[in-house]
Amino acid sequence: MSDFDGLKALVTGGASGIGRATAELLAARGARVAVLDLDPSSVDKPLLAFRADVTDDASVREAVAAATAELGGLDVLINNAGIGAQGTVEDNDDAEWHRVYDVNVVGMVRMSRAALPHLRESSHATIVNTCSIAATAGLPQRALYSATKGAVYSLTLAMAADHVREGIRVNCVNPGTVDTPWVGRLLDSAADPAAERAALEARQPTGRLVSADEVAGAVAYLASPLSGATTGTSLAVDGGMQGLRLRPV
Ligand code: NAD
Repeated sequence: MSDFDGLKALVTGGASGIGRATAELLAARGARVAVLDLDPSSVDKPLLAFRADVTDDASVREAVAAATAELGGLDVLINNAGIGAQGTVEDNDDAEWHRVYDVNVVGMVRMSRAALPHLRESSHATIVNTCSIAATAGLPQRALYSATKGAVYSLTLAMAADHVREGIRVNCVNPGTVDTPWVGRLLDSAADPAAERAALEARQPTGRLVSADEVAGAVAYLASPLSGATTGTSLAVDGGMQGLRLRPV
C-alpha cells in the first residue's frame, strides 16, 4: 500500500518548481492530486489542473469547489504558491509590501478558508505550508520576503493550535536555496550568473543547492500518515544552513 492511497490533495503553485515536484511525488505515491496555479497550462495527467489566483478570493473559492468536486473530497492541502522580493526596507514601497504579502500570506489564508470545510470531512486532514529559512535566518536584502515567511511560520503554528482538536494537522517546510525556475530567473538577472550560482552554492554547508525533489520529500512526509503525531512544527530542508551553524565547506 502506498503512503497516499485513496487520499486527495490540492497543491497551489503546483505548475512549477517545489509545487510541481510535490504534486508529482504525491501522485506517484497513490494520491489523486489537483494543481491550482496562475498558469496550469504545463500540467499533465495524472495531475488535475485548475487555474486560480491565490490573491483573488472568488477565484480561490471557485477553483477549490471545482477541484474538490472532481477529486471527490479533500485530505491534503499544500499551500505552496509564493513570490520573491529583494531589497532592504528602503527598497520596496507600500504597494510592493501589500502585493507580496497578499500572495505569500493572505493567499494561504484564502486557500485554507476555502479548504477547511472539506478537510473537516476527512479522517486524514493535513495542511503543509511552504515557508522558508528566510523566516528565521536574518538574510540580507530580503526584508519583505523574510517578513512574509515569518508570517507564514506564525500562521502555521496558530492554525495548528486552532484545528488540532478537529484532527487537522498543520505544519510547514523551511527550504534553503532550491534549484527551481524561480532561482533560475534570479540567476539570469545577475551580472554574472555563474558567479552568483557559485556564491549560492558556497553558502550551503553541503556545497550544493537543494533540489525541488528533496523539498517534495519533506512535504510528502508531513502530509502523509507517517507523520500522524506531528503538528505545529517546521522541517528545515536547507542543506544544513540553519541547524549546523557552519560556514560553507
Ligand atoms: P516557482 O516560481 O518555480 O513556482 C511558483 C509557482 O507559483 C508558479 O507555478 C506560479 O505560477 C505560482 N504562483 C505564483 N503566484 C501565484 C498566485 N497568485 N496564484 C496562484 N499561483 C501562483 O517557485 P518555487 O521556487 O518552486 O517556490 C515555491 C514556494 O517555495 C514559494 O512559496 C517560495 O517562497 C518557497 N521557497 C522557495 C525557495 C527557493 O529557493 N526556490 C526557498 C524557500 C522557499
